[in-house]
Amino acid sequence: MPSLNDIRTTFLDYFRRQGHEVVDSSPLVPRNDPTLMFANSGMVQFKNLFTGIEHRDYKRATTAQKCVRAGGKHNDLDNVGYTNRHHTFFEMMGNFSFGDYFKEQAIPYAWEMVTKELGIDASRLLVTVYHTDDEAADLWKKVAGLPEEKIIRIPTNDNFWMMGPTGPCGPCSEIFYDHGDHIWGGPPGSPEEDGDRFVEIWNLVFMQYEQFEDGTRKELPNQSIDTGMGIERVAALLQGTNDNYATDLMRALIEASANQTSTDPDGPGRTHHRVIADHLRSTSFLIADGVMPSNEGRGYVLRRIMRRAMRHAHLLGAKDPLMHRLVPELVRQMGGAYPELGRAQALIAETLRTEETRFLQTLERGLRLLDDELAQLPDGAELPGAAAFKLYDTYGFPLDLTQDALREKDRTVDIAGFDAAMAEQKAKARAAWAGSGETQDATIWFDLADKHGATDFLGYDTETAEGQI
Ligand code: ATP
Ligand code: MG
Ligand code: MG
Ligand code: MG
Repeated sequence: MPSLNDIRTTFLDYFRRQGHEVVDSSPLVPRNDPTLMFANSGMVQFKNLFTGIEHRDYKRATTAQKCVRAGGKHNDLDNVGYTNRHHTFFEMMGNFSFGDYFKEQAIPYAWEMVTKELGIDASRLLVTVYHTDDEAADLWKKVAGLPEEKIIRIPTNDNFWMMGPTGPCGPCSEIFYDHGDHIWGGPPGSPEEDGDRFVEIWNLVFMQYEQFEDGTRKELPNQSIDTGMGIERVAALLQGTNDNYATDLMRALIEASANQTSTDPDGPGRTHHRVIADHLRSTSFLIADGVMPSNEGRGYVLRRIMRRAMRHAHLLGAKDPLMHRLVPELVRQMGGAYPELGRAQALIAETLRTEETRFLQTLERGLRLLDDELAQLPDGAELPGAAAFKLYDTYGFPLDLTQDALREKDRTVDIAGFDAAMAEQKAKARAAWAGSGETQDATIWFDLADKHGATDFLGYDTETAEGQI
């Protein structure tokens, strides 16, 4: 049974033999790209090669790329702990062609990789194509010998890939694995597709356009290829499970979490262990790449993930900071492939410990307040925005943490009310400054803060933060 580390090697070696340059993963914080919060796919570091702004001495590349999807266009934070196939941090394997080969070669490579190199049973595979893409459908028929019903035409944006609101994009074709009819779920495009039976493992993007801010789209100078295969999903199926969290690497982290809390990894705390294992990876890799917890921007997204993990640790009964004690296991698992993790180990552990120590001082009181508020509400009623704001402002609860806590009880938050409470506080702060005799400077400061988003708002408000990052 191949381990996750074996699969990474198999993938990169295969494409190296096909003339691809093996390129290191880029850091999670994109260099010089304010349109994107974190690297969310393999193509991010190659964006300027697709648009033709930059040239390198290779036209084919292959990578294992660190990705975080916890904000912006691709946000899987709320999926973690609830689906078998989503992480906030994961590795995306990819092969890329910059104006070299296109569909006619990308599809045969993918088929050979999946069926020969990885040895996946071809009869379990099916593919999707963008509904107008006859060329891709014909190639799948010819190369893989797939029957019509296993080549599914999808008319939605699921088969038109975009990195974010702007940037290179194009129609795509995805490979799905059928885990079998003992599991609930339907094929892509069907109403039951979100079940766990059919899992998307690889997306082949036929890069052809560039999308601009004003909504227009232009043909790229060259047709290119960008692919992304989720290594954890492939590890799962090769290890005979449809659950990413049951694979060797994730399981080791879950067991570390269970050991450190003296709890059962598969008992009532199962979801908590899954969230902790996932969030341990995203927070540690973000810190290793230079992000520190703060009240704005990227640092606030990190803080949200950390605090969310800490609440789950608390629910397991951990009375002392937990996350930093799991770092050695993570470094054992992933430090070989990602040496930056070992180099930053002390910083990661210390940052997690400090943040958790600080948050534990208010976490319990905040949770009590939340329970009191809920007890006063009629069954199923939304938590008032003012209460969520108090949790945020006084107890340091990021809004999504409150939402996550409520989700377990089938409750939601009045978000408009929360935003209004936040706006009111900002107005009050502004007025207080205005009355302080320093009007001129204060006004300038507040205007700057609004313009540049240097406020606590940035990080979770969908309109202000995610729309622009
Ligand atoms: P899904 O529909 O399952 O959310 P996606 O269509 O958003 O996946 P892509 O943007 O096409 O995913 O990314 C390419 C590949 O990366 C996917 O086929 C999948 O194998 C993997 N992947 C995407 N998101 C995640 C995630 N949150 N956790 C683990 N793997 C992921
Ligand atoms: Mg997705
Ligand atoms: Mg998808
Ligand atoms: Mg996809």
